[in-house]
Amino acid sequence: MNPDPAPLLAKAAQGWRFLYRRGFIEGFGHLAVRLPGADRFMVTRHSLGCDAGPEDFVTLDFHGRKLAGHGDAPGEFPIHLEVLAARPDVGCVIHYHGMHSTAFTTSGHALRPIHLMGTLFHDGIPVHPDPRLVNDRPRGAALARTLGPHRAVLMCAHGATITGATVEEAVAGAFLFEENARRAWLSASLGSPQWLPAELAAQAGEELLRTRGPFRRVWAMVEAEDADARTRPSESITDLPRQA
Ligand SMILES: [Zn+2]
Repeated sequence: MNPDPAPLLAKAAQGWRFLYRRGFIEGFGHLAVRLPGADRFMVTRHSLGCDAGPEDFVTLDFHGRKLAGHGDAPGEFPIHLEVLAARPDVGCVIHYHGMHSTAFTTSGHALRPIHLMGTLFHDGIPVHPDPRLVNDRPRGAALARTLGPHRAVLMCAHGATITGATVEEAVAGAFLFEENARRAWLSASLGSPQWLPAELAAQAGEELLRTRGPFRRVWAMVEAEDADARTRPSESITDLPRQA
């Protein structure tokens, strides 16, 4: 018998609300989770706003057929389908149009770790050359090939796709990926960005991945901000800090 997906969806919705409040997902973006023990996944529905709940996910199989849920799947659902199909180690995929990370694809700079937390991505951040919407399976498969074994892939002049074994890992990964890009942007605006040496970045990143401290820390922030937002519903979401 397959496990009850309710706790997984509650967590996924919590991660979505965090990324939306933080300005990562401004109209464009979606989050998908693999359903353990089932040949299917669930993705946030098309045109979802900030106040998302478990009922805002639609269920798809790995042929792209909608099996359940209200509303339509996002047009770029093939991103999630093909990445989850290609990467059995991945349980959650987030696609969004990251303001800072995406800017590097049109800057002449290759985005690399420039801050300790960015070393989570020390094994490389590939850039997919095709900026078009990933609205069919061949485009999704091409993006999954560019992603390869990495944690994140940038799409030139389009956005970022972040993976994680769990919802916590993917949401924290997106937060820290964008934070690293924002710090790199600051360094580039001050002068020549000093990227961390590859060997040092690998050592630091492996240590962080062993302890998993950054994922736990960011998720604690997700929960705290969510609780705060829900106890003060009249407060504007724009009062919270934007984009990491
Ligand atoms: Zn997109």
